[in-house]
Amino acid sequence: VRRLSIVLGDQLNEDNPALRQLDPSLDLIWLCEASEEATKVPSHKARIVLFLSAMRHFAERLRARGLPVRYLALDQHPYSSLAAALSADLQRLKPQSARITHPGEHRLLIALRDACATQHVPVEVLDDDHFLCSTADFERWARGRKTIRQEHFYRWMRKREQVLMSGAAPIGGAWNFDKSNRSSFGKQGPGRLPEPVGFPPDETTQAVIDLVSERFPEAPGDLSRFDWPVTSEQAATALEDFLANRLPAFGAYQDAMWTEQPFLYHARLSAALNLKLLDPRALIDAAVAAHTERRAPLESVEGFVRQVLGWREYVRGLYWREMPGYLERNALRAQQPLPAFYWDGETDAACLRAAIGQVIEYGYGHHIQRLMVTGLFALLLGVQPRAVHQWYLAMFVDAVEWVEAPNTLGMSQFADGGLLASKPYVASGAYIQRMSNYCRHCRFDPKQSTGDRACPFTTLFWDFLAAHRDRFAQHPRTALMWRNLERLDQAELAAIRAQAGALRESLLA
Ligand code: SF4
Repeated sequence: VRRLSIVLGDQLNEDNPALRQLDPSLDLIWLCEASEEATKVPSHKARIVLFLSAMRHFAERLRARGLPVRYLALDQHPYSSLAAALSADLQRLKPQSARITHPGEHRLLIALRDACATQHVPVEVLDDDHFLCSTADFERWARGRKTIRQEHFYRWMRKREQVLMSGAAPIGGAWNFDKSNRSSFGKQGPGRLPEPVGFPPDETTQAVIDLVSERFPEAPGDLSRFDWPVTSEQAATALEDFLANRLPAFGAYQDAMWTEQPFLYHARLSAALNLKLLDPRALIDAAVAAHTERRAPLESVEGFVRQVLGWREYVRGLYWREMPGYLERNALRAQQPLPAFYWDGETDAACLRAAIGQVIEYGYGHHIQRLMVTGLFALLLGVQPRAVHQWYLAMFVDAVEWVEAPNTLGMSQFADGGLLASKPYVASGAYIQRMSNYCRHCRFDPKQSTGDRACPFTTLFWDFLAAHRDRFAQHPRTALMWRNLERLDQAELAAIRAQAGALRESLLA
C-alpha cells in the first residue's frame, strides 16, 4: 500500500479531502467501527446505529465506484479503539504514508496521530473544507478581539460569503429578525403539522440495528423509531422535505415547544450535516433560493442561515481554538451530579419528562428543548458541566464533540465564564409556560417557588440568582435580570433557598 486514506464516521462526504488524488491501484481507503466510540460515554443506540449504518452505506458506495476499501466491522476485529485498530493495520499493511481529514474531536486527532507516529508512518492531516471557515481563518478573525461573539462572526461571514446581502447591507435591512422568531403556539396549539419524511431501515441498517441491540443492550435509547437519513440521497430528500414543508414556519416557531410534537418545524438535518452527508453550502443556497423565489419568508430563511453559516461555523472555530482544556471549564463551580432521571425520563416535571422522553425515543430534541429545558435545569441545579456535556454527547444522534461541547459548556452551562455567551441563559418556569403547553400537564405550578406545588425551575431560578449575585448583579448585560431579586423579601428568599437545597438533596438520593 502506498498511502492509507483514513475516513472517520463523521467524514462521509465523497469529496472528503482524504479521498482526493487517490490512485486505486496503489492506495487504500480505511474505515473502522470501534466499540470505544460507542462506550467511552454511554451512547444512545440510535446514535450508534446512525454512525455505523451511514459508514457501511458509504463504504458500499466507494466500492461501487471501484475504489479499494478496507472496512473493519465491529464484529470482525478484536480492537476496542480506532487507534489500536489503526496501529495494527499500519503494522500489517506497511503503507508509506497515511492521510486523514482533520477529525472533529481533539481526542481522536491526538490518538490517531500517535498511532501513526508509533508505527513510523508519516500522516498528513488535511484541512476539512466541508466547513466554510477554516480554523486558520477563524483564528485570524478572532485574534486581537476583546470578545469573540457569534453575532460579529456571523456578520463577517455573511459579508465574506455574500449570503443574504445586497452589496454591503443585509437583505431586509437587519442582520437578524429575533423578534419574529419567538412565537408560541398559544392556547390552541400548532394544529396539524406536516409529517417529516423518514427513512425506514433497509437491509444494511437492519443488520446494524440487530448488531447494536445484541452488542450494546445496556446502551440508553430506543431503536423502534429509527428513520434518520443514512445516505447522501436520503439526506437530500430530507432537505427538500424541510424546504417545502417546514422552512416557511420555522422562523416564527423556532423557540416554541409542544407535547408529543418532537419536531414541529425544525429541520431534522443536523445529524446528516454533521456526518457530512450534506454540504452546508447546499443548505444555505437552497434556503436563500426559497426566499428569492418567495417560498419562505426572510425571518425563516435568515434564522436558518444563521444556524448553518453563523452558529455552526462559529462553534467549530471556537472548539479548536479552546481545545484542549475547554472540557474542564467550570466557571460557576457547579458540583451537583447529573440527576438519574436524565437517563430514563422518570420525573414529575412534565417539561423535562417530555424533552428527555423524546430524546430516549428518537435521539433528538430541538434547540429550545436542549437550551431551555434540559440545559436550563442542569444549569440552575448546578450540575457539573462535564457530566452535562457527556449526557448531550451520548444522547443526541447529531452530537459530535466540536459542535456539542461549545453548545453545552459555553452556551447552555456558562462553564466557559462568558467566552461564548455574554450572559447565562436562565429563566423561571414562566418561560416554559409561555413557550409550550407542558405546564398544563404538570403537577407543579410555574408561578410557585415554595411548597409542594413549587415548579423546580422557578425555585432554582431564584436560588441561582441569589447564589451568583456577586458575579452578575453589577454586570451591564445581566444587572437587569438580577434586579428581580430585589422583589423578594429576605424571608421569602430564605424559604426558596431552603426548598432548592432540599430539591438538590432529593436528587442525590
Ligand atoms: Fe416544567 Fe415547571 Fe412547567 Fe412543570 S410547571 S412543566 S416543571 S416549567
